[in-house]
Amino acid sequence: MPRETLLPKKEKSDFTAEDLWRQDISRIFENWKKHFKDYSIQQIVEKLNIRSCSMQQIAEVLTTHGEKAFRAKQIWQWLWQKGITNFNEMSNLSLKTRQFLDEHFILQTGELTHKQESEDGTTKLGLTQPDGALIECVLIPGRDKATACVSSQVGCKLRCSFCATGGLGFTRDLQPEEIFDQVVTVKRLAEERGMPLTNIVFMGMGEPLLNYDNVLAAIDRITAEDGLGMSPYRLTLSTSGIVEGIRRLADDGVRFNLAVSLHSAVNATRDRIMPVNRAYPLPQLAEAIKYFVDKTGTRPTFEYLLLRDVNDSLEDAKALAQFCRQFPVKINIIEYNEVDNAPYRHSPDTHRDAFVRFLESKNIVVNVRRSKGRDIDAACGQLANKNRRS
Ligand code: SF4
Repeated sequence: MPRETLLPKKEKSDFTAEDLWRQDISRIFENWKKHFKDYSIQQIVEKLNIRSCSMQQIAEVLTTHGEKAFRAKQIWQWLWQKGITNFNEMSNLSLKTRQFLDEHFILQTGELTHKQESEDGTTKLGLTQPDGALIECVLIPGRDKATACVSSQVGCKLRCSFCATGGLGFTRDLQPEEIFDQVVTVKRLAEERGMPLTNIVFMGMGEPLLNYDNVLAAIDRITAEDGLGMSPYRLTLSTSGIVEGIRRLADDGVRFNLAVSLHSAVNATRDRIMPVNRAYPLPQLAEAIKYFVDKTGTRPTFEYLLLRDVNDSLEDAKALAQFCRQFPVKINIIEYNEVDNAPYRHSPDTHRDAFVRFLESKNIVVNVRRSKGRDIDAACGQLANKNRRS
Protein backbone atom coordinates (compact mmCIF):
# COMPACT_ATOMS: atom_id res chain seq x y z
CA MET A 1 0.00 0.00 0.00
CA PRO A 2 1.53 3.37 -0.90
CA ARG A 3 2.42 5.39 2.14
CA GLU A 4 0.05 8.25 1.35
CA THR A 5 -3.00 5.99 1.53
CA LEU A 6 -2.17 5.14 5.14
CA LEU A 7 -2.25 8.75 6.13
CA PRO A 8 -5.14 11.16 6.34
CA LYS A 9 -4.95 14.12 3.96
CA LYS A 10 -3.60 16.86 6.21
CA GLU A 11 -1.17 19.69 6.09
CA LYS A 12 2.24 18.63 7.42
CA SER A 13 1.84 20.77 10.54
CA ASP A 14 -1.47 19.02 11.39
CA PHE A 15 0.14 15.59 11.86
CA THR A 16 -0.12 14.21 15.36
CA ALA A 17 2.60 12.11 17.02
CA GLU A 18 0.46 9.06 16.21
CA ASP A 19 0.38 9.95 12.49
CA LEU A 20 4.14 10.26 12.45
CA TRP A 21 4.52 6.95 14.29
CA ARG A 22 2.26 5.25 11.72
CA GLN A 23 4.27 6.85 8.95
CA ASP A 24 7.51 5.42 10.39
CA ILE A 25 6.06 1.94 10.89
CA SER A 26 4.70 2.00 7.37
CA ARG A 27 8.11 3.00 5.96
CA ILE A 28 9.90 0.21 7.88
CA PHE A 29 7.27 -2.32 6.81
CA GLU A 30 7.54 -1.30 3.14
CA ASN A 31 11.32 -1.71 3.34
CA TRP A 32 11.06 -5.15 4.89
CA LYS A 33 8.49 -6.22 2.29
CA LYS A 34 10.77 -5.07 -0.52
CA HIS A 35 13.81 -6.76 0.92
CA PHE A 36 12.17 -10.08 1.77
CA LYS A 37 9.76 -10.18 -1.16
CA ASP A 38 10.86 -13.73 -2.07
CA TYR A 39 10.32 -15.12 1.47
CA SER A 40 7.22 -16.08 3.43
CA ILE A 41 6.91 -14.86 7.04
CA GLN A 42 7.43 -18.47 8.16
CA GLN A 43 10.70 -18.65 6.24
CA ILE A 44 11.96 -15.35 7.63
CA VAL A 45 11.33 -16.56 11.17
CA GLU A 46 12.92 -19.98 10.58
CA LYS A 47 15.93 -19.03 8.48
CA LEU A 48 19.31 -18.26 10.00
CA ASN A 49 21.26 -15.14 9.18
CA ILE A 50 24.23 -16.86 7.55
CA ARG A 51 26.61 -14.07 8.49
CA SER A 52 25.87 -14.41 12.18
CA CYS A 53 26.85 -18.11 11.98
CA SER A 54 30.38 -19.42 12.54
CA MET A 55 31.95 -21.63 9.87
CA GLN A 56 31.40 -24.56 12.23
CA GLN A 57 27.66 -23.79 12.51
CA ILE A 58 27.32 -23.56 8.72
CA ALA A 59 29.11 -26.91 8.41
CA GLU A 60 26.69 -28.45 10.93
CA VAL A 61 23.62 -27.25 9.04
CA LEU A 62 25.13 -28.61 5.82
CA THR A 63 25.97 -32.06 7.21
CA THR A 64 22.64 -32.55 9.00
CA HIS A 65 21.02 -32.14 5.57
CA GLY A 66 23.39 -34.48 3.75
CA GLU A 67 25.55 -31.74 2.22
CA LYS A 68 29.36 -31.91 2.33
CA ALA A 69 30.97 -30.15 5.32
CA PHE A 70 33.92 -28.85 3.27
CA ARG A 71 31.47 -26.60 1.40
CA ALA A 72 31.35 -24.47 4.56
CA LYS A 73 34.87 -23.21 3.87
CA GLN A 74 33.95 -22.26 0.29
CA ILE A 75 30.82 -20.50 1.51
CA TRP A 76 32.85 -18.71 4.18
CA GLN A 77 35.26 -17.40 1.54
CA TRP A 78 32.40 -16.07 -0.58
CA LEU A 79 30.89 -14.35 2.42
CA TRP A 80 33.94 -12.81 4.04
CA GLN A 81 36.70 -12.67 1.41
CA LYS A 82 34.62 -11.70 -1.58
CA GLY A 83 31.75 -9.98 0.22
CA ILE A 84 29.03 -11.33 -2.07
CA THR A 85 25.42 -10.24 -1.56
CA ASN A 86 23.53 -13.18 -3.10
CA PHE A 87 23.89 -16.97 -2.90
CA ASN A 88 23.78 -17.16 -6.71
CA GLU A 89 27.14 -15.41 -6.86
CA MET A 90 28.77 -18.50 -5.27
CA SER A 91 29.81 -19.77 -8.67
CA ASN A 92 31.87 -22.77 -7.53
CA LEU A 93 28.84 -24.28 -5.77
CA SER A 94 26.27 -26.38 -7.57
CA LEU A 95 22.80 -24.97 -8.21
CA LYS A 96 21.47 -27.56 -5.72
CA THR A 97 23.76 -26.31 -2.95
CA ARG A 98 22.89 -22.69 -3.69
CA GLN A 99 19.20 -23.57 -3.51
CA PHE A 100 19.84 -25.37 -0.23
CA LEU A 101 21.48 -22.25 1.19
CA ASP A 102 18.58 -20.13 0.01
CA GLU A 103 16.13 -22.47 1.75
CA HIS A 104 17.96 -22.47 5.09
CA PHE A 105 19.71 -19.14 5.39
CA ILE A 106 19.12 -15.46 4.85
CA LEU A 107 21.84 -13.32 3.34
CA GLN A 108 20.71 -9.77 3.84
CA THR A 109 22.69 -6.70 2.83
CA GLY A 110 21.89 -3.01 2.62
CA GLU A 111 21.06 -1.34 -0.67
CA LEU A 112 23.26 1.43 -2.03
CA THR A 113 20.70 4.23 -2.23
CA HIS A 114 22.76 7.42 -1.89
CA LYS A 115 25.95 8.59 -3.53
CA GLN A 116 27.46 12.07 -3.38
CA GLU A 117 30.80 12.83 -4.99
CA SER A 118 32.88 15.85 -4.08
CA GLU A 119 35.10 17.79 -6.48
CA ASP A 120 38.10 16.39 -4.58
CA GLY A 121 36.92 12.80 -5.20
CA THR A 122 35.63 12.22 -1.66
CA THR A 123 32.50 10.15 -2.07
CA LYS A 124 29.82 9.64 0.49
CA LEU A 125 27.68 6.53 0.22
CA GLY A 126 24.40 5.70 1.95
CA LEU A 127 23.35 2.09 2.48
CA THR A 128 19.68 1.63 3.32
CA GLN A 129 19.04 -1.40 5.51
CA PRO A 130 15.91 -3.59 5.45
CA ASP A 131 14.53 -1.78 8.51
CA GLY A 132 14.95 1.57 6.72
CA ALA A 133 18.06 2.65 8.65
CA LEU A 134 20.48 4.68 6.55
CA ILE A 135 24.17 3.91 7.13
CA GLU A 136 26.77 6.38 5.93
CA CYS A 137 30.29 5.55 4.80
CA VAL A 138 32.83 7.62 2.89
CA LEU A 139 35.64 6.98 0.41
CA ILE A 140 38.44 9.47 0.99
CA PRO A 141 41.04 9.30 -1.78
CA GLY A 142 44.60 10.39 -1.01
CA ARG A 143 47.73 10.78 -3.14
CA ASP A 144 48.90 7.21 -2.62
CA LYS A 145 46.11 5.75 -0.50
CA ALA A 146 42.37 5.39 -0.23
CA THR A 147 40.61 5.45 3.12
CA ALA A 148 37.18 4.12 4.08
CA CYS A 149 35.45 6.02 6.87
CA VAL A 150 32.78 3.75 8.35
CA SER A 151 29.94 4.01 10.87
CA SER A 152 29.40 1.85 13.93
CA GLN A 153 25.86 2.90 14.91
CA VAL A 154 22.79 4.44 13.34
CA GLY A 155 22.79 7.86 14.97
CA CYS A 156 24.61 8.42 18.24
CA LYS A 157 23.72 8.85 21.91
CA LEU A 158 26.52 11.26 22.72
CA ARG A 159 25.25 14.48 21.16
CA CYS A 160 28.54 16.30 20.56
CA SER A 161 27.32 19.77 19.72
CA PHE A 162 29.46 20.22 16.56
CA CYS A 163 28.31 16.95 14.97
CA ALA A 164 25.42 16.35 12.58
CA THR A 165 25.05 12.76 13.86
CA GLY A 166 24.73 14.04 17.42
CA GLY A 167 21.61 15.94 16.35
CA LEU A 168 20.03 12.78 14.92
CA GLY A 169 19.66 10.95 18.22
CA PHE A 170 20.28 7.23 18.49
CA THR A 171 18.46 4.52 16.53
CA ARG A 172 20.45 1.31 16.98
CA ASP A 173 23.82 -0.44 16.96
CA LEU A 174 25.13 -1.83 13.70
CA GLN A 175 25.65 -5.55 13.33
CA PRO A 176 29.16 -6.82 12.43
CA GLU A 177 28.07 -7.62 8.87
CA GLU A 178 26.59 -4.12 8.43
CA ILE A 179 29.98 -2.63 9.34
CA PHE A 180 31.78 -5.13 7.11
CA ASP A 181 29.48 -4.27 4.16
CA GLN A 182 30.50 -0.61 4.35
CA VAL A 183 34.15 -1.57 3.96
CA VAL A 184 33.37 -3.86 1.02
CA THR A 185 31.26 -1.16 -0.66
CA VAL A 186 33.94 1.51 -0.32
CA LYS A 187 36.67 -0.96 -1.34
CA ARG A 188 34.81 -1.79 -4.56
CA LEU A 189 34.37 1.87 -5.40
CA ALA A 190 38.06 2.58 -4.72
CA GLU A 191 39.10 -0.35 -6.93
CA GLU A 192 36.79 0.81 -9.72
CA ARG A 193 38.76 4.06 -9.62
CA GLY A 194 42.08 2.22 -9.74
CA MET A 195 42.97 2.73 -6.06
CA PRO A 196 43.41 -0.15 -3.63
CA LEU A 197 41.76 0.47 -0.27
CA THR A 198 44.65 1.01 2.13
CA ASN A 199 43.13 2.40 5.34
CA ILE A 200 39.96 2.16 7.39
CA VAL A 201 38.87 4.64 10.05
CA PHE A 202 35.95 4.22 12.42
CA MET A 203 35.04 7.90 12.38
CA GLY A 204 31.57 7.77 10.84
CA MET A 205 28.26 7.76 12.65
CA GLY A 206 28.23 6.48 16.21
CA GLU A 207 30.61 5.78 19.08
CA PRO A 208 32.40 2.48 18.30
CA LEU A 209 33.18 1.69 21.94
CA LEU A 210 29.45 1.76 22.78
CA ASN A 211 29.03 -1.07 20.25
CA TYR A 212 32.20 -2.84 21.35
CA ASP A 213 31.44 -6.49 20.58
CA ASN A 214 29.98 -5.89 17.12
CA VAL A 215 32.77 -3.50 16.12
CA LEU A 216 35.47 -5.93 17.20
CA ALA A 217 33.69 -8.81 15.45
CA ALA A 218 33.62 -6.73 12.24
CA ILE A 219 37.31 -5.84 12.64
CA ASP A 220 38.05 -9.54 13.03
CA ARG A 221 36.39 -10.26 9.63
CA ILE A 222 38.12 -7.28 8.01
CA THR A 223 41.59 -8.26 9.23
CA ALA A 224 41.35 -12.08 9.26
CA GLU A 225 43.27 -14.09 6.67
CA ASP A 226 40.03 -15.82 5.75
CA GLY A 227 38.33 -12.41 5.66
CA LEU A 228 39.42 -9.25 3.81
CA GLY A 229 42.98 -9.75 5.08
CA MET A 230 43.69 -6.07 5.81
CA SER A 231 46.46 -5.22 8.23
CA PRO A 232 45.21 -4.06 11.66
CA TYR A 233 47.91 -1.39 11.57
CA ARG A 234 45.96 0.21 8.70
CA LEU A 235 42.88 0.53 10.82
CA THR A 236 42.03 3.28 13.30
CA LEU A 237 39.23 3.26 15.83
CA SER A 238 38.23 6.70 17.01
CA THR A 239 36.47 7.21 20.32
CA SER A 240 35.04 10.26 22.02
CA GLY A 241 36.65 8.97 25.23
CA ILE A 242 34.66 6.03 26.64
CA VAL A 243 37.01 5.17 29.47
CA GLU A 244 35.88 1.56 30.11
CA GLY A 245 36.10 0.84 26.39
CA ILE A 246 39.67 2.17 26.13
CA ARG A 247 40.73 -0.02 29.07
CA ARG A 248 38.98 -3.01 27.52
CA LEU A 249 40.83 -2.47 24.22
CA ALA A 250 44.09 -2.47 26.17
CA ASP A 251 43.15 -5.68 28.02
CA ASP A 252 42.15 -7.30 24.72
CA GLY A 253 45.58 -6.44 23.30
CA VAL A 254 44.22 -4.94 20.09
CA ARG A 255 46.71 -4.23 17.30
CA PHE A 256 44.82 -1.49 15.49
CA ASN A 257 45.37 2.23 16.12
CA LEU A 258 43.46 4.25 18.68
CA ALA A 259 42.38 7.82 18.08
CA VAL A 260 40.71 9.93 20.75
CA SER A 261 38.45 12.79 19.68
CA LEU A 262 39.75 15.26 22.22
CA HIS A 263 38.75 18.64 20.73
CA SER A 264 39.65 20.45 23.95
CA ALA A 265 42.01 19.92 26.87
CA VAL A 266 40.00 22.36 28.99
CA ASN A 267 37.37 20.52 31.05
CA ALA A 268 34.77 23.30 30.95
CA THR A 269 35.07 23.69 27.17
CA ARG A 270 35.00 19.94 26.59
CA ASP A 271 31.94 19.64 28.86
CA ARG A 272 30.20 22.18 26.65
CA ILE A 273 31.03 20.73 23.24
CA MET A 274 31.15 17.03 24.19
CA PRO A 275 28.64 16.07 26.92
CA VAL A 276 30.45 12.70 27.25
CA ASN A 277 33.14 14.66 29.14
CA ARG A 278 30.74 15.07 32.06
CA ALA A 279 30.70 11.30 32.49
CA TYR A 280 34.41 10.85 31.76
CA PRO A 281 36.27 14.09 32.59
CA LEU A 282 39.78 14.71 31.28
CA PRO A 283 41.69 13.30 34.32
CA GLN A 284 39.82 9.96 34.01
CA LEU A 285 40.37 9.93 30.27
CA ALA A 286 44.08 10.58 30.78
CA GLU A 287 44.34 7.61 33.17
CA ALA A 288 42.68 5.31 30.63
CA ILE A 289 44.98 6.52 27.85
CA LYS A 290 48.04 5.92 30.05
CA TYR A 291 46.76 2.40 30.73
CA PHE A 292 46.30 1.81 26.99
CA VAL A 293 49.78 3.11 26.16
CA ASP A 294 51.40 1.01 28.90
CA LYS A 295 49.62 -2.17 27.87
CA THR A 296 49.89 -1.89 24.08
CA GLY A 297 53.10 0.12 23.68
CA THR A 298 51.42 2.16 20.96
CA ARG A 299 51.04 5.89 20.53
CA PRO A 300 47.43 7.10 20.21
CA THR A 301 46.36 10.06 18.12
CA PHE A 302 44.33 12.98 19.39
CA GLU A 303 41.82 14.38 16.94
CA TYR A 304 41.34 18.09 17.44
CA LEU A 305 38.66 19.89 15.47
CA LEU A 306 39.42 23.59 15.35
CA LEU A 307 36.29 25.64 16.11
CA ARG A 308 36.50 29.37 15.77
CA ASP A 309 36.64 31.19 19.12
CA VAL A 310 35.75 28.00 20.99
CA ASN A 311 38.98 25.96 21.21
CA ASP A 312 41.43 27.64 18.83
CA SER A 313 43.17 30.23 21.06
CA LEU A 314 46.75 30.17 22.28
CA GLU A 315 45.42 29.36 25.77
CA ASP A 316 43.72 26.29 24.32
CA ALA A 317 46.98 25.26 22.64
CA LYS A 318 48.82 25.62 25.97
CA ALA A 319 46.24 23.42 27.74
CA LEU A 320 46.57 20.84 24.98
CA ALA A 321 50.37 20.81 25.18
CA GLN A 322 50.13 20.37 28.95
CA PHE A 323 47.67 17.46 28.58
CA CYS A 324 49.94 15.78 26.02
CA ARG A 325 52.90 15.72 28.40
CA GLN A 326 51.37 12.69 30.10
CA PHE A 327 51.86 10.20 27.25
CA PRO A 328 53.40 9.80 23.79
CA VAL A 329 50.79 11.06 21.33
CA LYS A 330 50.48 12.76 18.00
CA ILE A 331 47.83 15.32 17.15
CA ASN A 332 45.69 15.65 14.08
CA ILE A 333 44.34 19.15 13.74
CA ILE A 334 41.16 18.91 11.67
CA GLU A 335 39.50 21.73 9.83
CA TYR A 336 35.81 21.92 10.63
CA ASN A 337 33.16 21.05 8.02
CA GLU A 338 30.34 23.43 8.96
CA VAL A 339 27.04 21.61 9.46
CA ASP A 340 23.62 23.16 9.12
CA ASN A 341 22.35 22.75 12.65
CA ALA A 342 25.54 23.44 14.64
CA PRO A 343 26.46 26.91 15.92
CA TYR A 344 30.19 26.63 15.08
CA ARG A 345 32.37 28.14 12.39
CA HIS A 346 35.55 27.18 10.64
CA SER A 347 38.66 28.53 12.39
CA PRO A 348 40.61 31.15 10.36
CA ASP A 349 43.99 30.10 8.93
CA THR A 350 45.81 32.60 11.15
CA HIS A 351 44.40 30.97 14.32
CA ARG A 352 45.24 27.51 12.99
CA ASP A 353 48.82 28.43 12.10
CA ALA A 354 49.51 30.03 15.50
CA PHE A 355 47.96 27.00 17.24
CA VAL A 356 50.11 24.55 15.29
CA ARG A 357 53.30 26.61 15.70
CA PHE A 358 52.84 26.63 19.47
CA LEU A 359 52.41 22.85 19.66
CA GLU A 360 55.42 22.25 17.44
CA SER A 361 57.50 24.55 19.63
CA LYS A 362 56.74 22.05 22.41
CA ASN A 363 58.04 19.17 20.23
CA ILE A 364 54.60 17.68 19.70
CA VAL A 365 53.99 15.85 16.43
CA VAL A 366 51.16 17.68 14.65
CA ASN A 367 49.46 16.99 11.32
CA VAL A 368 46.93 19.34 9.80
CA ARG A 369 44.12 17.52 8.03
CA ARG A 370 42.53 19.61 5.33
CA SER A 371 38.80 19.28 5.22
CA LYS A 372 37.64 16.96 2.44
CA GLY A 373 34.30 16.76 0.73
CA ARG A 374 33.25 20.29 1.69
CA ASP A 375 30.96 20.60 -1.32
CA ILE A 376 29.02 17.47 -0.29
CA ASP A 377 27.54 16.46 3.06
CA ALA A 378 30.75 14.68 4.04
CA ALA A 379 30.61 15.28 7.78
CA CYS A 380 29.12 12.25 9.48
CA GLY A 381 25.36 12.35 9.92
CA GLN A 382 24.73 15.11 7.37
CA LEU A 383 23.35 12.74 4.75
CA ALA A 384 21.07 10.95 7.21
CA ASN A 385 19.98 14.29 8.62
CA LYS A 386 19.02 15.62 5.18
CA ASN A 387 17.33 12.34 4.33
CA ARG A 388 15.23 12.54 7.48
CA ARG A 389 14.19 16.12 6.81
CA SER A 390 13.25 15.54 3.15
S1 SF4 B 1 31.20 13.20 17.09
FE1 SF4 B 1 31.07 10.98 17.20
S2 SF4 B 1 30.60 10.60 19.37
FE2 SF4 B 1 30.11 12.76 19.01
S3 SF4 B 1 27.91 12.79 18.46
FE3 SF4 B 1 29.10 12.66 16.55
S4 SF4 B 1 29.17 10.47 16.09
FE4 SF4 B 1 28.63 10.68 18.27
